[in-house]
Amino acid sequence: MHSLAKKFMMARKLDFGENGNAELLDDQVFLMDASMFSKIAENTGKEGAYKIGESVGKSLASNIRKTGISGTKMIEFMMDLLTMMGLGDFELHDFDIKEKKGEVRVKNSLPSRKSEEKENAGCQIIAGIVSGIFSQNYEKEFKVTEKGCILEGDDLCRFKIQS
Ligand SMILES: [Zn+2]
Repeated sequence: MHSLAKKFMMARKLDFGENGNAELLDDQVFLMDASMFSKIAENTGKEGAYKIGESVGKSLASNIRKTGISGTKMIEFMMDLLTMMGLGDFELHDFDIKEKKGEVRVKNSLPSRKSEEKENAGCQIIAGIVSGIFSQNYEKEFKVTEKGCILEGDDLCRFKIQS
């Protein structure tokens, strides 16, 4: 088990109830087949996919902030959380806190494993999630653009962060 998942379970922040209820960080979650992720992305288009991701990212970030984690620590924590959730292997690169610029690199991204289409809206959900996390954490609007994609032949998906 992912070490973060273990910590959550010990702190009772990850709970699978018996009445159809699953919770992570006191918020509702559910497990779904990964193809649902791709299908949502494909059927909403890039802009819609980004918006869906953004609201998910904001919600995750505000739940984490309630636990008292903030700043760069919070971002690092989120990278682990997204990795644990199965969206890919997330890593923060060259984040400049003063310039509020940086990059998130994702190896083995979920869209690259599940998407059947080259036109990849799935990575737009991820771009949105990353933007929501940074925006919520720094209380400032961040724009995230994918600058390289596994689906286009790169070895990882690179998301550029700018405020
Ligand atoms: Zn990608």
